[in-house]
Amino acid sequence: MATAKQVLILGGGFGGLVSANLIRKGLRKEECVITLVDKSRYFMMGLVNLWILSGNRKLEDSQVDLDNLQKKGIIFLNDEITSIDASEKSVTTRASNKLKCDYLIVALGAELAPERISGFENNDESCFNAYDSKQATRLREKILSIKRGRIVVCIADLPYKCPPAPYEVSLLLNDILVKNGTRDSIELDMYVPTPIALPVAGPQMSQNVVNLLNDNHIKFHTSHKIKKVLDKKTIEFENGNKTNYDVLVVIPPHQIPPVIKNSDLLEAEQRWINVDKFSLRTKHNNVFAIGDVTEIRLDKNTTIPKAGIFAEGEAKAVSFQIINEIKNSYLNYDKAHIQFDGKGHCFMEIGDKKAGYIDADFYNEAGPTTRLVAPSEEFYQKKLDFEKSRVNEWLTP
Ligand SMILES: Cc1cc2nc3c(=O)[nH]c(=O)nc-3n(C[C@H](O)[C@H](O)[C@H](O)COP(=O)(O)OP(=O)(O)OC[C@H]3O[C@@H](n4cnc5c(N)ncnc54)[C@H](O)[C@@H]3O)c2cc1C
Repeated sequence: MATAKQVLILGGGFGGLVSANLIRKGLRKEECVITLVDKSRYFMMGLVNLWILSGNRKLEDSQVDLDNLQKKGIIFLNDEITSIDASEKSVTTRASNKLKCDYLIVALGAELAPERISGFENNDESCFNAYDSKQATRLREKILSIKRGRIVVCIADLPYKCPPAPYEVSLLLNDILVKNGTRDSIELDMYVPTPIALPVAGPQMSQNVVNLLNDNHIKFHTSHKIKKVLDKKTIEFENGNKTNYDVLVVIPPHQIPPVIKNSDLLEAEQRWINVDKFSLRTKHNNVFAIGDVTEIRLDKNTTIPKAGIFAEGEAKAVSFQIINEIKNSYLNYDKAHIQFDGKGHCFMEIGDKKAGYIDADFYNEAGPTTRLVAPSEEFYQKKLDFEKSRVNEWLTP
């Protein structure tokens, strides 16, 4: 009998967990050994940050132990990947493990880089990174403590994870202030570097989002890219404008993890990994990249958004290809399964336990389509189910 193939998955986030589970379901242990490596011991969905901010969740109740994978027949290595040689399908870790494989799936996500904003990290207790789960509780406490002043939410740069999320942050901050009885004495402004709210979703969807901000008296400023944070609670933008804040909430710049930057997965000048838009194959044989580490260009200005739902769709396509190949049966999963379809959906929270529903079809032949369905309590419930059902499926033994 042939020896089991080795599948190595780098990253136990959205994409890595979908791949590990699907491949395990599709192949017996004698057919394939799956090893997943992550430097974090826990998984938590990014959207939970918003629930911590709203006061509906606690960080410590939301992190699920990746060690649960072991009980599902997936080897979990809690270790930091320090080098990748994609041409050799080999990886080295901090603890000096050298791992070689037949199939490599790179799902290491995007890193937050607040230090790239001059003056931001050294600032005082009034600056927050909206995407850092460890800061969400502190941000909530700060918002509850202020009685008057000005809160500024700022998207530093593109691309960033989950395009609607910064708008959710603004709407949830508004909701906290309303419930706290302080909204009338606190200004809330949002600054973005782009000429419209959601370039990837087009002008109509952008206007729908701006209408939600307007309905809640959140002032919206386009084409303002942050240059630096000055002392005396002032931000300077690249267009020369300045603005004051009492609390600054930033969606920081994102970057590829350095271990990929230093590998043969990137060409010079490339910021993210190039893959085939259907198969997610890199230029290296049997090496795939999925999720936020990739750049799938739709046109000159837009790429597939960095979001868990797309990491999931890409992971499915990759897993079914690998299962087909290892089973040596191209009839097992058909084209609809092995090709990423560019479709996704999400739930956009507006506060008061309501959410809108967004869906998108980026590979639509007549051009990408996006749609926003009006917020309701039902969609908020569906968002709760979205997280719960996936975490159960991926990490409950
Ligand atoms: C506030 C917020 C709200 C969001 N809301 C949504 C939403 O509603 N819907 C949606 O679809 N998406 C949402 N997202 C985006 C979503 O979380 C990401 O797009 C998704 O997690 C990307 O999946 P991934 O597998 O590419 O990477 P990740 O899930 O980020 O996983 C990457 C993993 O790699 C590990 N890693 C990185 N470097 C190393 C290394 N050197 N060694 C070992 N391990 C390493 C990390 O620890 C991490 O576990 C949201 C994100 C945020 C921040």
